[in-house]
Amino acid sequence: MRAPEPYDLVVLGAGSGGVRAARIAAGHGAKVAICESDRVGGTCVLRGCIPKKFLVYAAHYRESFADSAAYGWTVDGARHDWNALIRAKDAELDRLHGIYCRLLDEAGVATVMGRAVLRDAHTVQVGERLLRADRIIVAVGGWPRVPPFPGHDLAITSNEALSLPERPQRVLVIGGGYIAVEFAGIFNGLGSEVVLAYRGEQILRGFDHDVRSALAQELRAHGVDVWVGLSPIAIRRADQGLETTMGDGSTFESDQVLVATGRAPNTADLGLAEAGVDLAEDGSVVVNDQLASSVPHIHAVGDVTNLMNLTPVATAQGHALADTLFGGSNRTVDLHAVPSAVFSQPPIATVGATEEQARASGRPVNIYRTSFRALLHTLTGRDSKVMMKLVVDRGNGRILGAHMVGDDAPEIMQMVAVAIRAGATKADFDATIGIHPTTAEEFVTLRTPVAEKEGAFAG
Ligand code: NDP
Repeated sequence: MRAPEPYDLVVLGAGSGGVRAARIAAGHGAKVAICESDRVGGTCVLRGCIPKKFLVYAAHYRESFADSAAYGWTVDGARHDWNALIRAKDAELDRLHGIYCRLLDEAGVATVMGRAVLRDAHTVQVGERLLRADRIIVAVGGWPRVPPFPGHDLAITSNEALSLPERPQRVLVIGGGYIAVEFAGIFNGLGSEVVLAYRGEQILRGFDHDVRSALAQELRAHGVDVWVGLSPIAIRRADQGLETTMGDGSTFESDQVLVATGRAPNTADLGLAEAGVDLAEDGSVVVNDQLASSVPHIHAVGDVTNLMNLTPVATAQGHALADTLFGGSNRTVDLHAVPSAVFSQPPIATVGATEEQARASGRPVNIYRTSFRALLHTLTGRDSKVMMKLVVDRGNGRILGAHMVGDDAPEIMQMVAVAIRAGATKADFDATIGIHPTTAEEFVTLRTPVAEKEGAFAG
């Protein structure tokens, strides 16, 4: 073992949160090392948001080709080459990986490749190297969690789904969360037969009920077979692929089974507990408002905290923490009204309270909701509807939440989030002139609240 190398800060994990924290800390003059056991980039760049979105773009063309006929186009012989898509995606990931490495180099951060383990609360070991750190930031992210039913190892996760050697023709997707609905849309759009099996009554638990029913309806309208109340108990190899047995005894054959049943923090065998760091039952690092763990000089950012598993949250946390520890400021990240999106087909975007959350808080609310066929589809005749919804505090008129299912929802919701954070009221929305003809203008032309007795959106 070599002599310990002294650092002001050692960051574990070179994903979005870790890289941002390392670069900003180095910019403040700290001597920083960042440790990574895979490639620099983390989940978002290598196995998540970015490659996933390329596949979502690819999947969308099929519908666009079909719709184009209504606008006078003839598209002959459109075929999809899965390997060409994967090659293009991988080339871009290589480029992004290079950029991340260069940014770290230019900031003067030492990148230490290999698996890092805490030997004590100030010492990180990576292979033969020992790094002695005044401060440590744990930014090791998460990893897909697969239930341990017999044959679970025959299934793939989102990690493998992004780089399969060929596109499976029949896909069974297990789960009803972000990843399940996104990949159901990807494979369906690219031409696979997709069944999505969810254990509960309605997909996307935690989202507004109107969003959940609208997306389930859209998935079905787009050709995804959505089964509810079912989860797998076993998978085995069959003559023609894989046979999955469900809890009700039924069996289903497919070429691939994609399990998207959540992600777990990557904290196993890191030496954190031994160093005195409190971990929650799910393995996440327990942190306070300042992102400090139970050991005051050991901090954590991003998915490993399981606070809000979104890349922009991780980067904001990493940045604020580096500013606080080395930049002489005292910054925290305000997680109020964080917008987010699900890149399903069509996408979902949401910010602020769901109707359920707003009602549970006990305050009287007005609900404004619309469901309509987008202008694009008045010519195509496609059976697809946009759903938009505002949750409004009846007392002061403040917009508490905005929700949308439909094309461009994420692009629209980013700006709605600015308005909500600025405290916009329904009257502010009403007084804003729309851009015509757009889908977004519906958010400023919602006139009449939904009657109290009316139930969930039914399409
Ligand atoms: P989620 O927690 O969103 O969903 C997990 C799904 O699997 C739920 O439907 C859950 O059901 C179901 N499930 C859990 N355990 C089992 C089981 N043992 N058997 C059957 N079903 C089960 O996890 P994801 O994997 O989809 O995504 C992980 C995280 O990654 C998300 O929370 C999100 O924060 C982040 N992410 C964000 C994206 C974005 O911003 N666009 C995209 C992808 C991921 P139930 O509801 O009943 O618990």
